[in-house]
Amino acid sequence: MRIARFSIDGNVAFGAVEGDKPDELVLDIIKGIPFADFELSGTKVPLSKVRLLPPVLPNKVVAFGRNYAEHARELGNEVPAAPFAFFKPSTAVIGPGDAIQYPSFTEDLQHEAELAVVIGRMCREVPRERVADVVLGYTCALDVTARDVQRREKQWARAKGFDTSCPLGPWVETDLSLQDAKDLTIQLTVNGEQRQLGRTSEMIHSIEDLVVNISEAMTLLPGDVILTGTPAGVGPLHVGDEVAVTIEGIGTLTNKVVKRG
Ligand code: MG
Repeated sequence: MRIARFSIDGNVAFGAVEGDKPDELVLDIIKGIPFADFELSGTKVPLSKVRLLPPVLPNKVVAFGRNYAEHARELGNEVPAAPFAFFKPSTAVIGPGDAIQYPSFTEDLQHEAELAVVIGRMCREVPRERVADVVLGYTCALDVTARDVQRREKQWARAKGFDTSCPLGPWVETDLSLQDAKDLTIQLTVNGEQRQLGRTSEMIHSIEDLVVNISEAMTLLPGDVILTGTPAGVGPLHVGDEVAVTIEGIGTLTNKVVKRG
């Protein structure tokens, strides 16, 4: 099931996305929330009539760095022996179609396309064999990065945590198994031109490794998001660019870059 979060007439709801043709998608409104048992209401609205929101409102986004060897090398970094995580705050999250605001303190804004894992239940110290049980599904993410600031500052709070630096969406795909998620094509285009192309099978540390690693340290809550690293091909974004992340079996997340007003 593809679970979207959306607003219509000032109300916010979750819905199951039905249909195949992009122009003919319909939302069956969910009664309740997708983190517990829920029912479909049978009340349907065309997707074109609503505004899609970030598919979840995470308490925290935990992002892992340098998890694809070729990407680590392209920035002149060693491949880390163990996973290493940083945070993107909840205020960084935006939804499909929302604007990425180019901050004033950087001159080198860059794109990083990533598979996002959405946590479905409260958990801590998750054993490897239980990882699939705590995952609600998967969505597309963009780890927007102020590369010059990242190079200059030891902690990445500003470089990767500024407002609008974490587009998520367009929805959470819950039908992909953990095995499926480990071999998907991930692609990023800027103004229709391909910049990044990789497969999630190229991750150095697997989805299980990442969930085990972070849940060893902290409680994960329903709706929390784990970013799994980016394949090679990262590069600059400019005001006016349209950037799109497409992940096989999930969908496409599109955002436009604007000047921060
Ligand atoms: Mg990243």
